[in-house]
Amino acid sequence: MILMRDRRPEGLTVGIPQGLLYHRYSVLWSAFFKGLGITPVYSGPTSRKVLEEGAGVEVDETCLSAKIYMGHVKALIGRCDYIFVPRVDTFGHFRDMCVRFQALYDQCRNLFRSTGQKFLTYNVDGEFGITEEMAFLELGQSLGFSKGEVKKAYAAAKKEEQRAWREKLKAQEPLLKAGGTKILLSGHSYVLDDPYVGKPITDFLRSIDVTAIRADVVNRELALKKSVELSPTCKWEVSRELLGGIALYRDQVDGIILVSAFPCGPDAMVNELLTRKLKDIPLLNLVLDAQSGAAGVETRLESFVDIIRLKKGAL
Ligand code: SF4
Repeated sequence: MILMRDRRPEGLTVGIPQGLLYHRYSVLWSAFFKGLGITPVYSGPTSRKVLEEGAGVEVDETCLSAKIYMGHVKALIGRCDYIFVPRVDTFGHFRDMCVRFQALYDQCRNLFRSTGQKFLTYNVDGEFGITEEMAFLELGQSLGFSKGEVKKAYAAAKKEEQRAWREKLKAQEPLLKAGGTKILLSGHSYVLDDPYVGKPITDFLRSIDVTAIRADVVNRELALKKSVELSPTCKWEVSRELLGGIALYRDQVDGIILVSAFPCGPDAMVNELLTRKLKDIPLLNLVLDAQSGAAGVETRLESFVDIIRLKKGAL
């Protein structure tokens, strides 16, 4: 439960850690806060230092993405009134998020308790009827804004998010029709879009003339439906979107690279399933951890691309 403030704040700043769900919701969050006159403060791009700072506060067994996230949170401590850490549990029945996203807010408040930093959250739990809009309404009102103001800010932010998503989908269309070697990258957006861990993969593929297609850049509703072709029982929302993206794009690419952050529970199961089911297309399982060096990753990518080109008679 979020405590309600008795009056509307002036000059409020909210810190947004640029890890995990930021890569899914950056447009929505930024537009929403700006729509209320709140200034977002960003943690900045991931770096070796951010990862090390996060790894220093997280338990060893946590996945690489969560360690990076904690580094981003740490970078915002003392730089804003609140740090925004949403809680996203489910989008409905059989539409779960990784448990990490249920615990993140409480975890951050506890890990950084001694700093005196205040945190802000919203709580989405579709299975219990708590929609995204309801979650934003509670968040905005807890800061002292009227229901009307929050509704207006949310509606405008949602529109902005949908416009940005349509553009992203449109930008991928010509890549699917491109000639040459095309590889489908399947991974969580916060892995693939992270400037320190995921972006170097896309950059390297581009440097060796490979077109990288993203499985997560897909019509999400359609992907959820298509996902049952590969797994009728997977309950993780993002994994289902990726399964659907693979089902939709697999015939248009020469190979698939599964990119995951060690040790990811959902990916460990889903990628094992994919390795068994996708026998008719070259597949590389790339698991990234804090020690993954660029040279080792590039060597594996290059060998994989060589195998594909050899198969196509293009080498
Ligand atoms: S889905 Fe995997 S990578 Fe993402 S937060 Fe959960 S364990 Fe980490």
